[in-house]
Amino acid sequence: MHFNEYPTQSLMYITNRPDVVFTHGSGSWLFDNEGKRYLDFVQGWAVNCLGHCHPAMIEALEKQARVLINPSPAFYNEPMAQLAARLTEHSVFDKVFFANSGAEANEGAIKLARKWGKKFRNGAYEIITFDHGFHGRTLATMSASGKAGWDTLYAPQVPGFPKAELNDIASVERLIGEKTVAVMLEPIQGEAGVIPATHEFMRELRELTKRHGLLLIVDEVQTGCGRAGTLFAYELAGIEPDIMTLGKGIGGGVPLAALLSKAEVAVFEAGDQGGTYNGNPLMTAVGQAVISELTAPGFLEGVRARGNYLREQLLALSAERGFHGERGEGLLRALVLSQDIGAQIVEKARLMQPDGLLLNAPRPNLLRFMPALTVTTEEIDQMMAMLREVLDSF
Ligand SMILES: *Cc1c(COP(=O)(O)O)cnc(C)c1O
Repeated sequence: MHFNEYPTQSLMYITNRPDVVFTHGSGSWLFDNEGKRYLDFVQGWAVNCLGHCHPAMIEALEKQARVLINPSPAFYNEPMAQLAARLTEHSVFDKVFFANSGAEANEGAIKLARKWGKKFRNGAYEIITFDHGFHGRTLATMSASGKAGWDTLYAPQVPGFPKAELNDIASVERLIGEKTVAVMLEPIQGEAGVIPATHEFMRELRELTKRHGLLLIVDEVQTGCGRAGTLFAYELAGIEPDIMTLGKGIGGGVPLAALLSKAEVAVFEAGDQGGTYNGNPLMTAVGQAVISELTAPGFLEGVRARGNYLREQLLALSAERGFHGERGEGLLRALVLSQDIGAQIVEKARLMQPDGLLLNAPRPNLLRFMPALTVTTEEIDQMMAMLREVLDSF
């Protein structure tokens, strides 16, 4: 079907989208309405950790859809309990609450920390977050984010989120006061341009928060579920946070997110937290299938190996073209360009013929790579060849 035949005009305008309609996908490839295929290194924004339409996810959806879709969040269901058990078994956390989006999981983390502050810290409610951080698009998570312009976009903000500088422990210490209840950060700032908190900084934060009796909250919506080469990125620093949020990868493409905490921090009382679709068996069944794949023998080793391979290829390209190197962990990486041509590269890569390439530029001088965790070295080679062709056209 031609693009103009799709009723896209009925959609509320929120951003500029290219004139294509995607119709199907398989693994690392997406196909549009004209039958053109695209090598996908965006994967729904680091969401489709198993690539497009993975058989294990299809099977889980089909099987669960036939038996039970939604008994109500007020009742237990089997996939909800099984997935929670898998997550606590594979992490340092004891309790899980399921949500539908990363922002909603983070809202839950904020509420849990404030509740804990009421109970144990004299009503302390401030959560120290970071400049350039990203925690979602609800009012509270926008307020927790440190994205330029977001402080005034839907003013007034939700109060209680003073901002520190990433990798500067003194900037955190300065903000700690009587009202402080927690520190919250992304182990790698994703939307800011793949900026890792150093492992040393993560350890300093853990020590500092322990010393002051504060909670440490990691937002692993983007870094979690194998993306950083370990099941969760906090493992890389060898620390144990008090609260973690998951989104994106945990559903492999379907709306699923989670709030996890240590047992002693899980202080919600009846009625404090909820939501109509929370823990619905259709999504949690998919989450179970995703976690099974991620924890299968050899899977994460493969992510690390291909993450290293992508890193080497990007470093070689950077040296060859005089760029400023690359950074990241596992299969969440960024290439630092020498000019502000990120957006043009993204556009030209998508328009390439016969196959297109899907990339993302979170900053004008940066390209971000977040392929399926199942991406092959051949697909990485193919992406690099296509990227070189695009760069040659400048
Ligand atoms: C994407 C993202 C979110 C928001 O998740 P949504 O599912 O879009 O609400 C929150 N935190 C981080 C670190 C993210 O990358």
